[in-house]
Amino acid sequence: MTNPTLNLTHDPQASSWLASANGSDFPIQNLPYGRFRPDSAAALRCGVAVGDQVLDLAHLASHSQWLQGPGVDTVLATRAVQAAAQDLRDLMRQGPEAWHALRVALFLALRADASAAVQREVGSALHALSRVELATAVQVGEYTDFYTSYYHARNVGIAVGRGSDVAPNFFWMPIAYHGRASSLRVNSAFHRPMGQAMAPGQAQPVYGPCQRLDYELEMAIYVGQDNAWGSPVAMAQAESHIFGMGLLNDWSARDIQFWEMPPLGPFQGKNFATSLSPWIVTMEALAPFRLPFTRDAAHPQPLAYLDGEDLRAHGGIDVNLSVSLQTAQMRSQGLAAEEISRTNFKHQHWCVSQMLVQHTVGGCNLHAGDVLGTGTISGPTPEEAGAIIELAQAGQKPITLATGEQRAFLSDGDAVVLRGSCERAGAVRIGFGECQGEVLPSVQP
Ligand code: MN
Repeated sequence: MTNPTLNLTHDPQASSWLASANGSDFPIQNLPYGRFRPDSAAALRCGVAVGDQVLDLAHLASHSQWLQGPGVDTVLATRAVQAAAQDLRDLMRQGPEAWHALRVALFLALRADASAAVQREVGSALHALSRVELATAVQVGEYTDFYTSYYHARNVGIAVGRGSDVAPNFFWMPIAYHGRASSLRVNSAFHRPMGQAMAPGQAQPVYGPCQRLDYELEMAIYVGQDNAWGSPVAMAQAESHIFGMGLLNDWSARDIQFWEMPPLGPFQGKNFATSLSPWIVTMEALAPFRLPFTRDAAHPQPLAYLDGEDLRAHGGIDVNLSVSLQTAQMRSQGLAAEEISRTNFKHQHWCVSQMLVQHTVGGCNLHAGDVLGTGTISGPTPEEAGAIIELAQAGQKPITLATGEQRAFLSDGDAVVLRGSCERAGAVRIGFGECQGEVLPSVQP
């Protein structure tokens, strides 16, 4: 089950009796997991996005007709949906066979040829997405942020005058810092952080609102199965420990970050807010969009513990990504967010399995529901930059929006929207939905 093999749930001919699913970000070939509440008084519950609806798994777990179809492993799928109804992490801990069994059952129950009785049963568990409140897809335990884009590392170095040299360790292992899960949010606004920064040529730092606020286009990797403390995960097993992926915006206060970072790493420049998209797209849903891992001859090949047959065959993932910006002026004029860059996850120097292996190599234990950020995702050309510090060259070349407004860094009232999707001939397009967040003015303590 660790290989991204295709099965009936990837059938490009299959459509749903739920019309809104077909052609949306969330067709039945996707089936991403999240958490929602139908009204503000209700407790959060686990759901699966389909078209413009969310399927209530707690409700489905109390019914059984939809689980009886031919091709469904009824025992495994029943156990899986009952676990998900309690807490998505309980399903994550059951492993890839349980994840697959529930996916098959949901797929068949939503497929166009499901019986009228099954359609009625499943239909009674649907809520319109426009009417529910969404939260982080799972209660995130811990959060680590990697740094795996060669182009981002190179571009930022050039933009801030450090030159194009990337730290030597970058080429030998996926490097990261440990972040905080407490400030991870879905679709929320946050206050511009206060902090300390040292302006160029000054002898003393100043305390005040961040002057160089940035976003970082990243993906989130959701750990599924735990590994025991002291038990590193090998490359061949790495993907069986990953449940799925989402979008992540690692908001960054560049002035605060660059003053505090040497010698211990990011701290206040990062921990004020990190935005997540509400849905976890499973690794099984991503199977049709896998790419071979290759390493350019200009850079060292990975050491053996970070290499493997699965990696070489299909370690990469083809995910189209974009960043859009909506200023307060655009919002007041009723204008949609404007796309300011576009790139692809396939450009990362390190793959998801290598990140997971490196995280556990010394014996560190990961848990179901932990999030690993991939680091900023930037492509080879300047237009494919995943942060405004690259697009606007550290403030030297502000970008101009269609309204005529200019941005060197983010202003109060700016909303940033990340989007992701996978597309290829012979497969149904799947989307990640949106990762949104908005900058509010700073507040003095
Ligand atoms: Mn980051």
